[in-house]
Amino acid sequence: MSDTVRVRFAPSPTGPLHIGGLRTALFNYLFAKKHKGDFILRIEDTDQNRYVDGAEQYIIEALNWCGIPFDEGPGKEGNFGPYRQSERKNLYKDYALELIEKGKAYYAFDTAERLDFHRKDHEAKGKTFIYNWHNRLKLSNSLSLTHEEVKIKLDAGEEYVIRFKSPQDQELVLNDIIRGEIKIDTNVLDDKVLFKSDGMPTYHLANIVDDHLMQITHVIRGEEWLPSLALHQLLYDAFGWQAPQFAHLPLIMKPVGKGKLSKRDGEKGGFPVFPLSWNESEGYREAGFFPETVVNFLALLGWNPGTEQEIFSLEELINAFGLERVNKSGARFDPEKNNWYNQQWLQRKNDVALAELFIQQLSSKSVDATKDYVTKVVSLIKERASFVSDFWDLGNYFFESPTSYNEKAVKKQWKEDTPEIMGEVVSILEGITDFTSSNIETIVKDWIGKKELSFGKVMPPFRLVIVGDMKGPHLFDILELIGKEESIQRIKNAISALAN
Ligand code: GLU
Repeated sequence: MSDTVRVRFAPSPTGPLHIGGLRTALFNYLFAKKHKGDFILRIEDTDQNRYVDGAEQYIIEALNWCGIPFDEGPGKEGNFGPYRQSERKNLYKDYALELIEKGKAYYAFDTAERLDFHRKDHEAKGKTFIYNWHNRLKLSNSLSLTHEEVKIKLDAGEEYVIRFKSPQDQELVLNDIIRGEIKIDTNVLDDKVLFKSDGMPTYHLANIVDDHLMQITHVIRGEEWLPSLALHQLLYDAFGWQAPQFAHLPLIMKPVGKGKLSKRDGEKGGFPVFPLSWNESEGYREAGFFPETVVNFLALLGWNPGTEQEIFSLEELINAFGLERVNKSGARFDPEKNNWYNQQWLQRKNDVALAELFIQQLSSKSVDATKDYVTKVVSLIKERASFVSDFWDLGNYFFESPTSYNEKAVKKQWKEDTPEIMGEVVSILEGITDFTSSNIETIVKDWIGKKELSFGKVMPPFRLVIVGDMKGPHLFDILELIGKEESIQRIKNAISALAN
């Protein structure tokens, strides 16, 4: 076994990567990087019936988008390739035959119909049919048939599978880094199919052989694979190979209620369950989440740092991560909290980068503005934003004059003497040459003081005419940005629009 930590993410390309699969990839990545090891992507595509075009590309793109690229995998050949099982298919049969040779596996010729018959027959008697030592000698296989009979069937090209011969009456003691010791009675195990006569291995055989050949030291995967652990351990033992260490990650649970998070939960709750869009399902990327956000919230689904810290960069995660702080129990998915994470990450982004993203949205609205201007706008409004797509609602008045005024605010703020006061504000603004926020503020406030007006009489309607509403950052900052001429024009517009 390798001295270097080597872990793998081994998805089957049967569709888009679910957010839970991405978490498995992330935990593998974090563990590998923490231990200065290798993170391998292996595509488990032996089941051609479930193969979906584009899924592999999707997986790779999702990993890259999150900033957790693999060190070895399809297109990044290391010393252990190829990394697609379909390209390795010729090597599995010998391993299956080796197990037959060792008396650990056997040929089975039972047809699907016969197996179905046995299943139903057992059911009728209130029993469950398990293909193992209970009844394997009554079935059609190389343990029940003579050597000669088996040879005839094989020579005739009869369809077969190779099954693992699971042991009788043993107690297996398995080890999982997260769950500790797990005891399994081998009598509950069935003789799983390892290989089929179409030349393809099943998941179990291919997975074990490849983990061995690729010198995988730690298998970190979802809890749904825990029931396979006994078989996998038995397979390692049967080959005489040292097994990797195992860690089964907790399930990701629905936001409310029981059960694991599903695609339907996302559809119902209006949140993505895929990292990137796939057909009509919107992904986290397209919904405006930053990769940092997704990495951050995924890391905390089932792992905790043991401190109150919630915001982690990838670097910080690598430092803090350890399997000993992964929980056994399911981790509840919290879409609201994910939005909060995005808000937190948005605040940490620099204004120029955010402006570049905002400019793309502005141009789709045919709004023209310089990068410098948009950057300043972003710096004023980003505090309240969770997504770049919030910027427009928060700051549309930086790009267009109000065409309407919040009715409630008008009722409350627009008094009889307001037009006159606003008219005076126009004259004050006209006299200002250094049109900067603090200078405008000083001059306007001085004037309010000298006139013995209350702030409440001036500032709220002033904001209303500039913004069209009572929202927005410091009013004088807005004035500086939109400029003297525009500010004055807006006040004049409002005076005539609100005259009744
Ligand atoms: N191909 C399996 C999957 O789709 C891999 C399970 C494992 O990591 O062993 O999840």
